[in-house]
Amino acid sequence: MQFYCESLTGYRRLRTREVRIGDLLLGNGHPIRVQTMTTTDTMDTMATVEQTIRCIEAGAELVRITAPSKKEAENLQAIRDELRKRGYNTPLIADIHFTPNAAEIAARIVEKVRVNPGNYVDKKKFEQIEYTDAEYAEEIERIRERFTPLVRICKEHGTAMRIGTNHGSLSDRIMSRYGDTANGMVESAMEFLRIARDENFHNIVLSMKSSNPQVMVQAYRLLVKTMFEEFGECYPLHLGVTEAGDGEDGRIKSAIGIGTLLEDGIGDTIRVSLTEDPELEIPVCRDLVKRYMAPASTQLPAYTTLPYSPFEYQRRKSFAVDIIGAKQVPVVIADLSKIEKITSAHLQSVGYHYDAGTDKWTIGDAAADFIFTGHQLLDFALPGTLKVITYPDAWEGADSTTYFPLFAASGFVQATHRHAKLNFVMVDCYNDETPINDYTHLDHLANDPTVVLCLSSTNQNAMQSIRRMVAELMLRDIKNPVVLMTDSQGHTPDEHLIHFATETGALFLDGFGDGICLGYAANASMENVQVKGRTYLPVKDIYQFTNNTAFSILQATRTRISKTEYISCPSCGRTLFDLQETTARIRAVTNHLKGVKIAIMGCIVNGPGEMADADFGYVGSGPGKITLYKNKEIVKRNVDSEVAVDELINLLKENGAWIDKA
Ligand code: SF4
Repeated sequence: MQFYCESLTGYRRLRTREVRIGDLLLGNGHPIRVQTMTTTDTMDTMATVEQTIRCIEAGAELVRITAPSKKEAENLQAIRDELRKRGYNTPLIADIHFTPNAAEIAARIVEKVRVNPGNYVDKKKFEQIEYTDAEYAEEIERIRERFTPLVRICKEHGTAMRIGTNHGSLSDRIMSRYGDTANGMVESAMEFLRIARDENFHNIVLSMKSSNPQVMVQAYRLLVKTMFEEFGECYPLHLGVTEAGDGEDGRIKSAIGIGTLLEDGIGDTIRVSLTEDPELEIPVCRDLVKRYMAPASTQLPAYTTLPYSPFEYQRRKSFAVDIIGAKQVPVVIADLSKIEKITSAHLQSVGYHYDAGTDKWTIGDAAADFIFTGHQLLDFALPGTLKVITYPDAWEGADSTTYFPLFAASGFVQATHRHAKLNFVMVDCYNDETPINDYTHLDHLANDPTVVLCLSSTNQNAMQSIRRMVAELMLRDIKNPVVLMTDSQGHTPDEHLIHFATETGALFLDGFGDGICLGYAANASMENVQVKGRTYLPVKDIYQFTNNTAFSILQATRTRISKTEYISCPSCGRTLFDLQETTARIRAVTNHLKGVKIAIMGCIVNGPGEMADADFGYVGSGPGKITLYKNKEIVKRNVDSEVAVDELINLLKENGAWIDKA
């Protein structure tokens, strides 16, 4: 193993134990399984059966159903019987929180049970408790007593189990000792895993979910390392980002978290949690997984040492070149080079709106910092904050306060005329210009105070290639800022989103980017980004789609905040209102509140625990009733749902988080 995976320089699946879930085998190199979860009331047998069938028909290989109490757990029998009667043998999973009794019933009926170690035995009161080692050991014994019966039932019935830790619902005990950390998440699962192993029970899958992809990725990496160190082996991993939300943001967040791990061969089954119908999650899962069906890796130089920590975020140190690098937020470069004749109207797509009446530009929160125009100079006046990048032939003679050249690495070395302040230099990582272990060009550029490196790779393992190059920069103490450049060859919006989010998101999560530039293969067209029957934000054209995606990636990796953040649960049988409709309603009135995090959660049983670091929470607390939170504190209880959105706005106003829409 290399640090936390089989290889950081070539695609290889992590070796895990084989787990049987009904007739389905998981782990040990079996294909990455895709799964989802129903949103119907578990007591409504026919609705749950019908929805499960829709998920199976869409391609789900496992379907999870909530069992909040004994009666729902018992009703899993009727659901399972009906599905089997109709010829569907897909394994079912019971989702358990707080109720060991329900788990013990479900484990006798369905193929797998999921327990949350944060609330299986412990009840969360958000208390800080000081334990002595002896008291802590006593707590573990209390868990052993309550958890062992379930382990024995699973063993007897051949039922698999997922020990599913959620960042938002760590127990007070874990929080008190380990804090709100990746380490706390790992220990939370390990406590349960050790008990299961003591019973010689190994039919186990683990997960480390969080709504923050950074925390989630670090926790999975740490879990793999911890399991190998303690047991010399690893159990299969279920990957997911919780409460990812809907539309493009939900897909991007999920793809960054799940995709970052899949890139390193980690993950045996995935679920993309979207606040949408569960069958819509499956195509996204499949798009994520298909990237690894026939992986070919270009050989990269081996790591002798890792110059960054994969378990802890720290931005790579760079110096500032103009507005790029050092502590400045990553810049966004919009690639408009494929437009034959760029006009002021095209700038609307990248955040600049020109009003001819007032002769003024309005600049949005998600306005690109640079545009790349290829060989074109523009024949209209630009907004003052926007700068232009062109190839050197076009740049010669252009206004050097607005225009900056983009050189090939060899071109820059040979150039007689360079910009005095800012030059962009392409570095194609481990391809023609920088073959393995030949860093001649890099050495010529190293630490030139005018140079921003634009890293790209056409290798199949492009993320690994760029990551290896960034590591090389760090090892050589080269501190030029780095722009991450990625082209998509996708054909659909999801393929583009997943490609961009995985390739660049993984690098931003490790602190590697000072800028982002997303582009397309030459044949990409507007049709590629038109959205049918989805809750994506509407986009005007491919350039707006790309620009939005770049800002969404920065938002999801928490490197540049440009909009409101929504943490909404995917809903399940516990949900007390129409989550999709409500999320859309709340989004419509709050989507101008840059940086505010709003959680929209279906139930008060799990919602408050799961809404992680939201600033405000809108949580279903009974039929037609909503409870509003400020951070983890209840501020308005059981508000009528008819007026709850207005009350949420009042709450935002009372707390200085509201501004009127422009
Ligand atoms: S928070 Fe949402 S998904 Fe989680 S249990 Fe409650 S309703 Fe279900």
